[in-house]
Amino acid sequence: MAESDDVRDSAAVYRNGQEIECWLTDMDGVLVHENQAVPGAAELIQRWVDTSKRFLVLTNNSIFTPRDLSARLRVSGLEVPEENIWTSALATAQFLKDQVRGSGSGNRAYTIGEAGLTTALHEAGFILTDQDPDFVVLGETRTYSFEAITMAIRLILAGARFIATNPDATGPSKDGPMPATGAIAALITKATGREPYVVGKPNPMMFRSAMNQIDAHSETTAMIGDRMDTDIIAGMEAGLHTVLVLSGITQRDEIDSYPFRPNQVLNSVADLKNQI
Ligand SMILES: [Mg+2]
Repeated sequence: MAESDDVRDSAAVYRNGQEIECWLTDMDGVLVHENQAVPGAAELIQRWVDTSKRFLVLTNNSIFTPRDLSARLRVSGLEVPEENIWTSALATAQFLKDQVRGSGSGNRAYTIGEAGLTTALHEAGFILTDQDPDFVVLGETRTYSFEAITMAIRLILAGARFIATNPDATGPSKDGPMPATGAIAALITKATGREPYVVGKPNPMMFRSAMNQIDAHSETTAMIGDRMDTDIIAGMEAGLHTVLVLSGITQRDEIDSYPFRPNQVLNSVADLKNQI
């Protein structure tokens, strides 16, 4: 009806696929599901490549480097070049680099994490050390060490700034949920009384750093995600066109329980490739 169309036009938020110049997309639940490509995902990525669209595949998981993830996606049937992958570890390294540049703080970091995080921090110019670090950076790992957590707690109590790559309390594994960064951060907070600054989704910082990476602007960028409570809220707060796909966590009947809405709801990325 005319009235609702007017409301939509005046809000100037809804954009159609052709107006979008840059795409950000979540990985799990959108492009892959339990290491299997979601039908339509390979074609969507190919279409972005063929039409020279700038895009990034985002993940809160800080275990892997973009090269590792690109190889894992290839096994799942998706060709995503490593330069098109943006992890919470890269976003965290970029944030800390900006902090060092902008405030003159030191570039020494103690990390709990794997190659995804340590490589990102090394490439951002950080020295990784347990001697008088400026930051304690907590990321995802599958083998949390009590000794490393103890060291982190002592360094934070001695004045190091506490940073976490992502807030997720659990992560998936083939045998069931595993404790993840958010759960270990809670342990460290309990022991120190200090809350971390958390960079990954739903912090819109993750999207802003991704957009900087591909020189994207919010007016012409869309975010595709499968979770209302992370992808969609963060995309909305970053001023992006938001697309919820129902191929992952959020189900259609759950949308109404949130006080905000995505711009578009689609069954899966298979429905999106026809629009762009
Ligand atoms: Mg997801």
